[in-house]
Amino acid sequence: MGFWWRPLSVLAGVLLVALILWAASGLVAALAFLAGIQAFVMLRRLWQEFRLARWLESPDEVEPPDATGTWGDIFYRLQKLQKRQKASRSELTSALEQFEHAAQAVPDGMVILNGSEQIEWCNPASRKFLGLDCERDRGQFIRYLMRQAPFLEFLDAADFSRRLICKSPINREVSLSLQLVPFGEGKKLLVARDITDLERVDAMRRDFIANVSHELRTPLTVVGGFVETLADASDLPPAETQRYFDLMLDHTRRMQRLLDDLLTLSRLESEEHVLKDENVDVVALARALAAEAESLSRGRHRIHVETASDAGLRGSLQEIRSALGNLVSNAVRYTPEGGEITLAWKLREGEGVFSVTDTGEGVAAEHIPRLTERFYRVDRSRSRETGGTGLGLAIVKHVLTRHGARLDIQSAPGKGSTFSAVFPAARVQAHNPATAQVIPFPEREQAVG
Ligand code: ADP
Repeated sequence: MGFWWRPLSVLAGVLLVALILWAASGLVAALAFLAGIQAFVMLRRLWQEFRLARWLESPDEVEPPDATGTWGDIFYRLQKLQKRQKASRSELTSALEQFEHAAQAVPDGMVILNGSEQIEWCNPASRKFLGLDCERDRGQFIRYLMRQAPFLEFLDAADFSRRLICKSPINREVSLSLQLVPFGEGKKLLVARDITDLERVDAMRRDFIANVSHELRTPLTVVGGFVETLADASDLPPAETQRYFDLMLDHTRRMQRLLDDLLTLSRLESEEHVLKDENVDVVALARALAAEAESLSRGRHRIHVETASDAGLRGSLQEIRSALGNLVSNAVRYTPEGGEITLAWKLREGEGVFSVTDTGEGVAAEHIPRLTERFYRVDRSRSRETGGTGLGLAIVKHVLTRHGARLDIQSAPGKGSTFSAVFPAARVQAHNPATAQVIPFPEREQAVG
């Protein structure tokens, strides 16, 4: 009603004046008055329409018209409408910008296909995985750009619950999982996810299970065979029976060692297993390890300890002992009778270096990078004969990594090897006999070849 009140009251006023004029000066004067008013209204209307048209043509550049009366009301309402539109336009623009940024940041490749499978849009990751270029390939049929048969079958099937696992068409090292997601009217979103790491972990898991099964099968078969023999033959000579029992014990211990090492690895890998922060007296530890080496060697090797520093380490005493113990036991196991083994501890440019040097069989250069892989052995039967599980250096690497340390391997076939655990300066600390500790070495029987 607010909008109509003013013009109606003006109209009523004009009619009243016209009636008064008619009564006072006759009809002609009243009509002349009405014609004058009509002309004024028309001219004003034309002027306001011109201003309105000029403003509507470029509302962002021209100032909005200002007027009183009905026109003022119309202009005010139009301005309000324009402001509202402006606000929703800028909201939409910022939402679009955010979507654009998010799409750029998404690590998965994303391609929007229309109903005819033409590319409408794709993000930068789709260039990395699928070799698509958003500018260049917009409007292209995806079938012409990605022609691999499995991909075409996947498109034809249009089974949105299915994923296609394939190699990236531009990098065979990268494994992709492709999925189609329907949206809008007949559109599809093609999502390409990099699953290279997942595939690698899966392959490692399969290898690991195969390796463990293989390692357990031989001793289990041997023990099973002897048990059957003993059960069937009641009249075996006691010496023979004893030999079978000894062999069974040997293989049982082998399985025990394997399980112990597997449990150690799994403990080291478990995230809940927090690294202890203890004082480790490395000089005392070197002596304890040398004594251990003597007992493993049974006098077959000459064993030396060289400690050029009395510095200690901060970390898990048990883990460091187990890692360095593995290096020492390997030196004994892979060094023929009469060889020399030296355990040395020194500081080098602030780093703590614990090295185990032997004059044993050594390792050829091509094997060195793989020695810390689980179950990797240069000579499988030699490792088994000496009670190896193939997991010792994997454990060493894990322990050292947890301590921010690294394993250096220098070796030459026929000459010997030096395995060095290099601890960062932050882990090295001045010797403090009051707090440093050495725990007794756990019994671990090894057969020495
Ligand atoms: P294993 O139980 O077989 O000894 P490790 O993980 O401890 O397993 O060692 C992996 C392989 O590295 C061994 O099988 C052996 O071939 C080689 N190796 C380790 N230490 C030495 C060494 N001191 N001298 C020669 N070869 C070694």
